[in-house]
Amino acid sequence: MELDIKQQILTENDCYKIGRTITPKGVMVHSTGVAQPDPEVFISRWNRPDVEKCVHAFVGREQVIQTLPWTMRGWHAGTGTSGRSANNTHISFECCEPAGHTYQGGTMIGYDVETNQPYFDDIYHNAVQLTAMLCSQFNLDPAQPGVVICHAEGYQQGVASNHSDVLQWWPKHGITMDQFRRDVAQAMDDGDEEDNMTQERFNELMEGYLAQRAGLQPGEWSAPAREWAEDQGIVSGDGDGLRYRSFATREETVQMLYQLSRK
Ligand SMILES: [Zn+2]
Repeated sequence: MELDIKQQILTENDCYKIGRTITPKGVMVHSTGVAQPDPEVFISRWNRPDVEKCVHAFVGREQVIQTLPWTMRGWHAGTGTSGRSANNTHISFECCEPAGHTYQGGTMIGYDVETNQPYFDDIYHNAVQLTAMLCSQFNLDPAQPGVVICHAEGYQQGVASNHSDVLQWWPKHGITMDQFRRDVAQAMDDGDEEDNMTQERFNELMEGYLAQRAGLQPGEWSAPAREWAEDQGIVSGDGDGLRYRSFATREETVQMLYQLSRK
């Protein structure tokens, strides 16, 4: 799982100063509800007293910025109709929305799906990777009910205030929360496969890589050098061709020097 995460903890936010902790039971996905793609804008606005909200991370297009320790209790969900709050159970992150739209009530106005598709793809990728990382770290199963939910689902389940994120946005790009949960599970499986890399499998991949390189054509710029080396008998190949774009072993290197010394 490649994910670029940096930390900018909101130490001036009252939520951080109070410093209550949770045992994470899930991850709640939010979006900011403002056309502002730059996470730093929110971070500088929220890193002060009297803000009355705080999340664990902001997901931007370029990277994820962690803003609270994962096990600190955040202020992101409010209280649901059950009287319970996902603040006590869920790690939270805000996805930054692209520039260019406005809101009327909970509805996006002037949002251009096609123009914003590449932006959305990057945000979505980072959100999947972050959630997969958190689920792995805290032993959470994204397929279990109530574990990976968005704010709007939290409202439906009685554990969050009445907000529509991220269902006011993601479905415009054809993404449901069920799809998100499947993609998170898939990312966790992919991560496990990376962790299960064996020497044998690595050697196999390396052989394939070297074979692929050996089949590449050399560039025009090296033509005079190649012609010279072949005329002089310094390179002669090994039945697999001259493999100009592959690597030379130390054995092959001394062999080439040896041939040269005998001219
Ligand atoms: Zn929210």
